[in-house]
Amino acid sequence: MSHTLDDQKPLPTPSPDTVHYRALDGAHHIHPFSDMGALNRMGSRVITKAQGVYLWDSDGHRLIDGMAGLWCVNVGYGRKELAEAAYRQMCELSYYNTFFKTTHPSVAELSALLAQLAGPPFTHFFYCTSGSEANDTVLRIVYRYWATQGQPQKKYVISRKNGYHGSTIAGATLGGMAYMHEQMPSKVEHIVHIDQPYFFAEAEPGMTPDAFGLERARQLEAKILELGPENVAAFIGEPFQGAGGVIFPPSTYWPEIERICRRYDVLLVADEVIGGFGRTGKWFAHRHFGFKPDLMALAKGITSGYVPLGAVAICERVAQAIVEHGEFNHGMTYSGHPVATAVALANLALMREEAIVERVKDDTGPYFQFRLREAFEGHPIVGEIAGVGLVAGLQLAREPRSRTRFENGAEVAGICRDLCFSGNLIMRASGDRMLLAPPLVISKPEIDELVAKAKQAIDATARRVG
Ligand code: PLP
Repeated sequence: MSHTLDDQKPLPTPSPDTVHYRALDGAHHIHPFSDMGALNRMGSRVITKAQGVYLWDSDGHRLIDGMAGLWCVNVGYGRKELAEAAYRQMCELSYYNTFFKTTHPSVAELSALLAQLAGPPFTHFFYCTSGSEANDTVLRIVYRYWATQGQPQKKYVISRKNGYHGSTIAGATLGGMAYMHEQMPSKVEHIVHIDQPYFFAEAEPGMTPDAFGLERARQLEAKILELGPENVAAFIGEPFQGAGGVIFPPSTYWPEIERICRRYDVLLVADEVIGGFGRTGKWFAHRHFGFKPDLMALAKGITSGYVPLGAVAICERVAQAIVEHGEFNHGMTYSGHPVATAVALANLALMREEAIVERVKDDTGPYFQFRLREAFEGHPIVGEIAGVGLVAGLQLAREPRSRTRFENGAEVAGICRDLCFSGNLIMRASGDRMLLAPPLVISKPEIDELVAKAKQAIDATARRVG
C-alpha cells in the first residue's frame, strides 16, 4: 500500500484527457494509502471504463483486473441488472431512514435473504456503508451485548497483528497494521493483539503447519487468561488475512480458536469483508475453515462494489439481547439505505441465478488454483502459493526452499506490482506477497491470460533481483 510508483516508467504519450484529469487530480485530490508526492510526480492512471474483468484507461489501454477492484466486484463490471435496480429504487424511494419507527421493502427483504444465506445462528443484520463501519458496529454490538448480560466489564477485544479491519479509528485499532498504528497517536482502548498464523514467515524451522496453527491459536487462550476471562468480550479475525497478504492459517487454527472462545465465553467475530459472498467457493469463508462465528462483518461483495454497503450479521443470542433491552444507541444516516439494499438484492439474485459461488467452488476456482501452481511451483522466487477458490497469495522469497525472505521484500513486491501495472495487469503487493482476487465471473481463458501476465511479471522481477 505504501510503495511509490517512482520506479515505473510513465506510459507513453498521455492523451489530452489524461493530462487534464491528472492535473485536476494532482491539484485537488488526496488518494487513500498513497504517497501523494510520488504519485503526482508520476501521474495517476485515469480509469474511465470497465466491463467484465477488464478496465480501460484514458489512453485506451485495456487492463485485466486481478483484484476485482478492491476485492469487491464479485459479479464483474458493467452489469446492467444492478444499474437498473439502482435506477428503479431511486425513482421509487431514493432515500428514507430506518431510525424512527419506519422501514422500507428492500432493507426488509435483504435482511431475510441474508438470514437465509448465512443460516443459523444468524438471524439479524445491522447496516452501514463500509467494512470499517461494520467493524465499528461490531464493537458497539459487542459492548452492548455484554452490558445487557450484566457483564459490562467484559470489554477487551483481541485481534491479530497484521490483520486488517478498516481505516476508521476503531477499524485501524482492531487491525494489526504497524504502519497504520504509527500514524495514530490515540487508539481505541481495550483492544489487544496476538500474533498472526503466518507459517511461512514465522514458524520455527522444523515445526509442522499443524503444530504452528495450534501454537498460534493458543496465544488467544494465554491472552484471555492474562486479561481474565471475565474481562474479555470478543476475538475478531479474518478467516484468511486479505490485505495482510492472503495468509491462509493452518487447518488446526480456527477449530482451536473456536474451542477457546466457547470455553471462556468470548464472542467469536469473523471479518468476512473480503471472504464473504463467494470468494473461497463458499458463501462465507468461515465455512471453508470449519468454524461458526457469532458475528460477521460484511461489505464489498454484498453489492459487488456497485454502491457502498456494509453490514453486521448477528447471531440469535446476541440479537435477542439487543432486541429485548431497549434502545441501542447506534446508527448512521445511511444505515439500510434503500438504493444500497436494492442493489445488494439484485447482486445476490444474480449470483444465485448464475450459480456464481458454485462455479467458483467446482470449476473456475480449482482451475485458477491449478494454473497458479502449474506456473509457480518451483519458481526461483516463489516460496508459497496460498489460496482456494478465486483468491491467492504468492510469497516472494530469496530462497524458497529454506523459507529465506528478501531483506527488501516489500521493495521487491513493489517492483513486481509495478511491472504488472505497466503490463496491464492489476495485481496487489502486500509486504513480500503478491495477491490475486479477480472478479468471480472470470472465465477460464481470462484466468489463462491473468496467470500468464502474472508469470511474465514475476519472471521479470526475478531477473531484476537475481
Ligand atoms: N475488513 C477487511 C477484512 C477488509 O479487507 C477491509 C477492506 O479491505 C475492511 C474491513 C474495511 O472495509 P472498507 O474499506 O470498506 O472500510
